[in-house]
Amino acid sequence: MRYINFEDTGDAISDEVFMKEALKEAHIALEQDEVPIGAVIVSKNRIIGRGHNLTERLNDVTAHAEMQAFTAAANYVGGKYLHDCTLYVTIEPCVMCAGAAYWTQISRIVFGARDEKRGFSVFGSQLLHPKTTVISGILAEESATLITSFFRNKRAQ
Ligand SMILES: [Zn+2]
Repeated sequence: MRYINFEDTGDAISDEVFMKEALKEAHIALEQDEVPIGAVIVSKNRIIGRGHNLTERLNDVTAHAEMQAFTAAANYVGGKYLHDCTLYVTIEPCVMCAGAAYWTQISRIVFGARDEKRGFSVFGSQLLHPKTTVISGILAEESATLITSFFRNKRAQ
């Protein structure tokens, strides 16, 4: 019997698989005229939280994709800590979301494109929990293209 186990196929492949799920969330945001950023949280190769940017719909500057996903995942696990979990997010988290990630003590953050202006790494990696590892550049081009075309269309309107 052969079954797919992402652990067997290596992290790089599973990272892409889950980043594609985060991109699906970004597309949902785009359809709702929200800044197209999406996130999923994965534990043991299972998605336990999803989210996309909802700042317009909720009139809430804190309604970033990551915040939605943290809340969903915490509800799923029934606790505030996200040990042994990975956050996949299409764009580098901002300072607020990096701060929230700190409080969750999440194990890994995998993001797509860098945010040269508002990304947390612009302000220093001290924002994250010391136990959190970060991987960047997974499906970065697709993630960045979504954002840049969104803002180009906004300016053209
Ligand atoms: Zn954020």
